[in-house]
Amino acid sequence: MGDSVKHLFITGGVVSSLGKGITAASVALLLKQRGYRVFLQKLDPYLNVDPGTMSPFQHGEVYVTDDGAETDLDLGHYERFAGVTCTRKSNYTSGRIYSTVLQRERQGGYLGGTVQVVPHITDEIKKAILSCEDTGADIVLTEIGGTAGDIESSPFLEALRQLRVDLGPENAVFAHLTLLPYLNASGELKTKPAQQSAGIMRSIGIIPDVLICRTEVAMEEEHFKKLSLFCSVPRAAVIEEKDVKNSIYEVPIELAKQGLDSLILRKFHLPENELDLTRWNAMVARAVNPDRGKVKIAVVGKYMALRDAYKSIFEALSHGAIDQRLDLNVRCIEAEELQNRDPAELLGGIDGILVPGGFGYRGLDGKIEAVKYARDNDIPFFGICLGMQCATIDTARYLAGFPDANSLEFDPDTAHPVISLMDEQKNVVNKGGTMRLGAYPCILEEGSKAQKAYGATEVSERHRHRFEFNNLYREALEQAGLRLTGLSPDGKLVEVVERPDHRWFVAVQFHPEFKSRPLDPHPLFSAFIKASFQGKQK
Ligand code: GLN
Repeated sequence: MGDSVKHLFITGGVVSSLGKGITAASVALLLKQRGYRVFLQKLDPYLNVDPGTMSPFQHGEVYVTDDGAETDLDLGHYERFAGVTCTRKSNYTSGRIYSTVLQRERQGGYLGGTVQVVPHITDEIKKAILSCEDTGADIVLTEIGGTAGDIESSPFLEALRQLRVDLGPENAVFAHLTLLPYLNASGELKTKPAQQSAGIMRSIGIIPDVLICRTEVAMEEEHFKKLSLFCSVPRAAVIEEKDVKNSIYEVPIELAKQGLDSLILRKFHLPENELDLTRWNAMVARAVNPDRGKVKIAVVGKYMALRDAYKSIFEALSHGAIDQRLDLNVRCIEAEELQNRDPAELLGGIDGILVPGGFGYRGLDGKIEAVKYARDNDIPFFGICLGMQCATIDTARYLAGFPDANSLEFDPDTAHPVISLMDEQKNVVNKGGTMRLGAYPCILEEGSKAQKAYGATEVSERHRHRFEFNNLYREALEQAGLRLTGLSPDGKLVEVVERPDHRWFVAVQFHPEFKSRPLDPHPLFSAFIKASFQGKQK
């Protein structure tokens, strides 16, 4: 193996939402299963410094890393597929690149020079990419957000063009993901948009080494040949990525069948090694053939119209179902709907209820209704972050005798702020990157549902919140049947609450969904799915 770290750049053409993240993650898995250490990174061309301040409607979920970065949801795919741990280095935006350059300019760091997109911004982009080399990876995969031809992605593509020259073609390989639209009216699969996106790349000075074609229907030999001819890509390097039938986890298997991973390794002049997908194949077989029955889970949230807003939650639920060999059916419920309708209408026939994280008052009372419905009907309940805060408010309002209990986030004047602002947050002014973020340890009470699920008493989970369980209410809420089963090691922060009078009622201040992987389903999600299925059997 050569000494140089290899770089695979993944760009996209024709349209956004092609599944570049899943493709990058799938390729990373294949390279890893051929014995290489991989690291993944996403470069996003927008000007927000990170997605932390963006609405989930704009951007989907904000994925949080162990080291506390608020990042793009594609990093979730990277971690789930390739089993890697992403860091701050795994996501850069134009905003982050520009703010570094502008700060340096204010400090006089450019010694009187004119600061320009080329070379100063492009140099900073190259630095961000090369910074991944000290992660110990043999191969760094860098996905470029946006679509070829976007004005704002051009500095990124220019930086990649330069890097290919700096590093040499055997160390910098380009994969271009593109779309072949299928025209129903004429029954034809069209290659022109793909030819044009490869053309845009060529005009920038980048000839893709590999062309990966997203398509709904199977490609014919003529399509491969045409694309090869017009895009300057050898026939063998035109790869079909057809929609998969049952599970996104089939994508790597399909790409491997076409030898995409071998092709990339050959471009890198690296030994092909053997590909070991034994565990992955077994997991996919379980995912597509659930043989123990069905389980119906309701997710009650505020951004239900956009499934990407809860990406990791849905994925973690599916991992729990794969683990339990169950067919998962998720009912997405807008929390506000529960405020105007009989909850039984919306939640009837449901085996388990999950209230995920969130911000802002809209829908809060509906989420609390969902907790109450789960509690009244002994339906397994899983609360996450805001969902844990709702579970706390539910006990306060309906069982502890504080009918106006609330979180200070939603009612600054409440007489019973059972959820209050964390001390360290009291002087925080800026919104971006200032929440309690990233992995913190938590100590679980022996014999609690959470402790039994994890099979451990000390765990580490990722956080993203400003508010917390108000310690002044510990005693009152414990008397009302809420058990505080997970605390920070100093005992000061309540991280997990449970109701022992209930079949399975566990709510956590952290976000376990970020650490769940298909080959390593999160124990709390598995336990929740298991309890939901058992409850249904009774
Ligand atoms: N809005 C709540 C807080 O800031 C919960 C955050 C969340 O659910 N991620 O504490």
